Amino acid sequence: MVEVVGTAPTSAMVITKFVYRHSWKTNIINIKGILRDSITIMKLTKEQLGEIKEQQSQNNSTRRVTAPELEKILYEALPALDHGFVRVVDYMGDDTSIVQSARVSYGKGTKQISTDSGLIKYLMRHWHSTPFEMCEIKYHVKLPIFIARQWIRHRTANVNEYSARYSILDKEFYLPTKENLAAQSSSNRQGRGEVIEGDQAKEVLELLKDDAERTYDNYEMMLNERFDGTTIDKNKKGLARELARMNLTLNTYTQWYWKTDLLNLMNFLRLRADHHAQYEIRVYADIMLDTVKKWVPITYDAFMDYRVGGTEVSAKGKVIIKNLIKGKDVNPESSGLSKREWNELMEAFDLKDRLIK
Ligand SMILES: Cc1cc2nc3c(=O)[nH]c(=O)nc-3n(C[C@H](O)[C@H](O)[C@H](O)COP(=O)(O)OP(=O)(O)OC[C@H]3O[C@@H](n4cnc5c(N)ncnc54)[C@H](O)[C@@H]3O)c2cc1C
Repeated sequence: MVEVVGTAPTSAMVITKFVYRHSWKTNIINIKGILRDSITIMKLTKEQLGEIKEQQSQNNSTRRVTAPELEKILYEALPALDHGFVRVVDYMGDDTSIVQSARVSYGKGTKQISTDSGLIKYLMRHWHSTPFEMCEIKYHVKLPIFIARQWIRHRTANVNEYSARYSILDKEFYLPTKENLAAQSSSNRQGRGEVIEGDQAKEVLELLKDDAERTYDNYEMMLNERFDGTTIDKNKKGLARELARMNLTLNTYTQWYWKTDLLNLMNFLRLRADHHAQYEIRVYADIMLDTVKKWVPITYDAFMDYRVGGTEVSAKGKVIIKNLIKGKDVNPESSGLSKREWNELMEAFDLKDRLIK
């Protein structure tokens, strides 16, 4: 199976209120956000900011549990890469919902953080997963198409993407910052190596920008319509949007609503916030990790401890670690591990002097 993005013909109808067709037009307001090692400028129009403000000014009362820290950033566009964002637009449950469902009890957990935390850790440690499915979250994400292709491989979410059959895509393309313009790794076929610098970096960035702009200009020509809805030539017919989009570059931004439960979200984050994942998807995963911390802080701590910070050790690996603790001699040849397995085990326990080349 390959990573492909689907578009739902009716998606624009469902998400019109939140989809920002004209996000690069006039009245652009720059919002500066610090992201990891670079400064990101995310552009939202006055209209979009108005919509977010309107959503944030709502004051609904509910008998359901809420997460106060997450409430503070609800609907906010958290900047990602150069034009992307992550917004939490809805959620259900909190840490106590997990505890409550695990005990199949009537109340709001035990109300004692220490016991709730102990139970959540136990559930996490023993892969007792269904209580985590009781919490759900819905994000609105703006992301480059080539990242959407990786993201969509996570099948256990409900997705509704901006329909490029129905609407014209924004004229926004992802261009890496200089520090993220790396050469192909020589040791890892799926990874990056050293940063490309100087004239070559300039040349690559110009190529990316020129290609994206040229194909977008041709997209408008084929549609016979500009991004702002004005007609280019009154005597011509525009090509169908579902066809014209096919020449766009993969760094063009798309948007979707992505709803999932906490268990599947943790699976997504474990894989995509990991250093093996591509930098661009990691940027999104890191922002989402922070939203999890605000939403379910106890589960977040257990997740960081057991899944992110922890490591899986095979039966053979366990024997090696046991022997090391006992001060016995271990060596890769008699371990029964492949070179890769051996090195991964040694790295996991910070035994760098035992790595083999
Ligand atoms: C670093 C990295 C590199 C990758 N490289 C490649 C690559 O080169 N090529 C490529 O094609 N993909 C690649 N992938 C994608 C990867 O193989 C998974 O498809 C993706 O991470 C989704 O994981 P998932 O299936 O666990 O998630 P989900 O689809 O959300 O599924 C969650 C869990 O539900 C269960 N599940 C869901 N659907 C099914 C099903 N139909 N049958 C059985 N169980 C199911 C599984 O237990 C699964 O783990 C890569 C992923 C990462 C993180």
